[in-house]
Amino acid sequence: MTLLPLAEAQARVLAQVKALPSVVVPLGEARGLVLAQDVTAKENIPPFANTGMDGFAVKAADTAGATSSNPVALAVAGTIAAGAVADRPLNHGEAMRIMTGAPLPDGADAVIMVELTSPDPSGDDRIVLCTAEVQVGNHVRPAGDDLLAGDLVFRPGEVLSPAHIGMLATLGYYDVKVIQRPRVGVFSTGDELVIGAEPLGPGQIRDSNRPQLLALVAEAGLEPIDLGWLPDDEVMIESALREAAERCDALVTSGGVSMGDFDFVKAILQRLGEMNWMQIAIKPAKPFAFGTVLETPIFGLPGNPVSSAVSFELLARPALLAMMGRPDTQRRHVWAMADEPMPRKADGKTHFVRVTVSESIDGAPRIRSAGNQGSHQLSGLANANGLAAIPDGDGLATGDRVNVLLL
Ligand code: AMP
Ligand code: MG
Repeated sequence: MTLLPLAEAQARVLAQVKALPSVVVPLGEARGLVLAQDVTAKENIPPFANTGMDGFAVKAADTAGATSSNPVALAVAGTIAAGAVADRPLNHGEAMRIMTGAPLPDGADAVIMVELTSPDPSGDDRIVLCTAEVQVGNHVRPAGDDLLAGDLVFRPGEVLSPAHIGMLATLGYYDVKVIQRPRVGVFSTGDELVIGAEPLGPGQIRDSNRPQLLALVAEAGLEPIDLGWLPDDEVMIESALREAAERCDALVTSGGVSMGDFDFVKAILQRLGEMNWMQIAIKPAKPFAFGTVLETPIFGLPGNPVSSAVSFELLARPALLAMMGRPDTQRRHVWAMADEPMPRKADGKTHFVRVTVSESIDGAPRIRSAGNQGSHQLSGLANANGLAAIPDGDGLATGDRVNVLLL
């Protein structure tokens, strides 16, 4: 069987998934989801001219020539707190005490900050001394200086960050239309697996894929659903997959997709729906199954723990993010320089080597091996913050540049 280039495998998977329908959610649940509506400003932001400083609202012309040695005295005509409104306009020769965010009174055209004023030496608090001259507009935040009523603020496709949430709240959008967050069910398969902390019996290992994949799903902003563990039993796997396909938007399994005698997942998927079984030109994570069960996309990842994680990163994650409507389905890549030789053998595959990426003062980030590189050796992966895509050939010499996916 010829090996499929990774880009081709990724394109095949992406071509078969589509964004989920939109729903309206409360703003507090919208972070990380993708906006599915236009957002326009229904009012000016800020809604009224207000002060950016604690101080005194004045007519700028009244402060002309003021210095600390020759201050100008103004009559204090009231106090305006944030949330309050002046009860009358400001006249010539007057100042109104004003707090940050409070609306400017009619007649005022500037604010002098409190630090540039002083009390009258007589102790009369009906008089304030201005010790500097201010210009028209000083510390005034005009109505609509951020957004004007009618402005188009966001379009569909925006990934909602905390700053977007703040903007939406400012604009009075407390419910927003977004693409649904995919519910992603995760299974493990394999008779050898032990769940929990009990002692291992002969031939047994612990199920590490399911916790790891559930965490990867959650980290991607998707909703993880723990579907537990399945033995290598065709009947049980089939009924579990059917049931799970009904209640999840996507399924992720690990194990049972390679060439072993008990690799049933592949066979069942072939029977249940449309299936693409691929041998991809990468190491780790060569075997990969993708298809649909009852129209639910399913990603059949290989069982080896590093393989299942790398396979999730390269193939499942982009597709799941596309289902969430995300325009940016790829992790960030950088070009980095090998800080040590990273030899390999030519085998027709791109090797995704677990590396530590560190910033360097003179520009290009540097990489080193993160440790054990076997597809069963989680320690190297746990130590890594990048996957270096080392092309087919005999590897890297110190100083060679390579593309690195940042984890
Ligand atoms: P398989 O793809 O089912 O042939 O499994 C390949 C290798 O991955 C075997 O060594 C399995 O024991 C191991 N493996 C499969 N599933 C898991 C899992 N959930 N956690 C840890 N190792 C696993
Ligand atoms: Mg297995």
